[in-house]
Amino acid sequence: MAGLLDKRKFYIDGAWVDPIKPHDLEVIDPSTEEPVAVISLGDQADTDAAVAAAKAAFPAWSATPAAERLAYAEKILEIYKRRAPDMGAAISAEMGAPQDLALGDQTGAGVYHISNFITAFRDFEFIRPLGDHAPSTMIAWEPVGVVGLITPWNWPMNQVTLKVIPAILAGNTCVLKPSEIAPLSSIVWTEIMDEAGLPKGVYNMVNGDGAGVGTQLSVHPDVDMISFTGSTRAGTAITKAAADTQKKVVLELGGKGANLVFADADDQAVIRGARHCFNNSGQSCNAPTRMLVERSVYDRAVETAAKVADETAVATAHQPGRHIGPVVSKQQWDKIQDLIQQGIDEGARLVAGGTGLPEGVNRGYFVRPTVFADVNNDMTIARQEIFGPVLSIIPFDTEEEAVEIANDTVYGLTNYVQSQDGARRNRLARQLRAGMIEMNGESRGAGSAFGGVKASGRAREGGLWGIEEFMDSKFISGWDRNA
Ligand code: NAD
Repeated sequence: MAGLLDKRKFYIDGAWVDPIKPHDLEVIDPSTEEPVAVISLGDQADTDAAVAAAKAAFPAWSATPAAERLAYAEKILEIYKRRAPDMGAAISAEMGAPQDLALGDQTGAGVYHISNFITAFRDFEFIRPLGDHAPSTMIAWEPVGVVGLITPWNWPMNQVTLKVIPAILAGNTCVLKPSEIAPLSSIVWTEIMDEAGLPKGVYNMVNGDGAGVGTQLSVHPDVDMISFTGSTRAGTAITKAAADTQKKVVLELGGKGANLVFADADDQAVIRGARHCFNNSGQSCNAPTRMLVERSVYDRAVETAAKVADETAVATAHQPGRHIGPVVSKQQWDKIQDLIQQGIDEGARLVAGGTGLPEGVNRGYFVRPTVFADVNNDMTIARQEIFGPVLSIIPFDTEEEAVEIANDTVYGLTNYVQSQDGARRNRLARQLRAGMIEMNGESRGAGSAFGGVKASGRAREGGLWGIEEFMDSKFISGWDRNA
């Protein structure tokens, strides 16, 4: 392992510490298939030490004035912005986002979320009256306690900042377990947290896998809450593991977003939808992977989407540009290949891409941007989250049919509507079963929460709701408002 970055240490009780038992894991750069660093997978004793540090720090931290916690968040933001180039490089190497995407949207997501939390927290009312009808009844918001934060590899800093910042602003102490596949960005993040000088034990970081540290946190009697983002499979396992200790469990899971394109959609709608699907090599839980198109504009939409796929360059993460990079791992590459093959076998019409490596590529986990037309919503590619640059196009005849197809999925994260008819948009926004609806390419406003329903989990991350997520509400009668 000569030449590999040594990133074996964990961060516990305000210090970088060696794992109690060595258990090395190489971090693979998906553009080259070469190892770039070595980390350690933690064990029970490491998890216990981190949880004990967080538990010991909780009484003092939860009693700090809110303004003090806000000042730490502001300091973290300042350091994060300064360390952005290191963060971008780490994300690019660990999960294959091309350097412009890694530094731009990926690292930028952290700045965006921390800033929105700071804004929301400034006006946060920790104690509020219930209403004029009950003047001495109050609602108080209080931290949950020790929280375990388990994050995935696809948007690493997006997810870490959506959890760590509200957790500590709310007065909790925490243990972060980042994805073992993409741990390097969380090591840079932990350096940022260390430089911010939080009291020891407030923030801890232990690397590890799901079967190890992930499960140990989920069953731990001294962990009061788990906030998780990742697969529905792991979310289910965590919920079961956490049941015996009655933890609060908050899940942000997969998706199979429907993008409803009507005949009166703007002329960029299909291009926008296809690009969104391929962005980050298709590794986004909110990707609009099922494009539902009104029959009268269907053929044109298929042609346009195929053209977008053909024009989407695929190349190494180490070069600048708006191309897409590899997918994260050999395991994901294999899974995506199998699903593309299943699409073909089940009779969907392949109009762009397909199995195998893109032309001229002989190493790296690169996937061809792929479009299937004539997809039926019962096909595997319409039902499973593929997590690769694969778009499925499904025709529809009526608005009712479009809603039925869109809602016929176990998931419910983000759905999309493209239509110039405002009344139709409003109607559909209410009928589609999802935590988020985005229409005509307009982003949801700063401070909106991110989260879903059904098998997408019911987390609400970001802004005010994302802070309340890390708190318990307490209802108090007999409060003296004049005291
Ligand atoms: P995963 O759910 O297995 O891993 C995500 C995180 O959970 C990692 O930190 C992992 O170590 C941890 N983990 C795994 N099993 C656990 C368990 N039993 N208990 C506690 N923690 C556990 O995701 P993955 O294997 O990296 O990806 C597999 C699939 O998950 C993807 O193909 C994709 O469909 C989905 N996924 C979704 C999201 C999302 O944002 N919704 C993110 C990543 C992956």
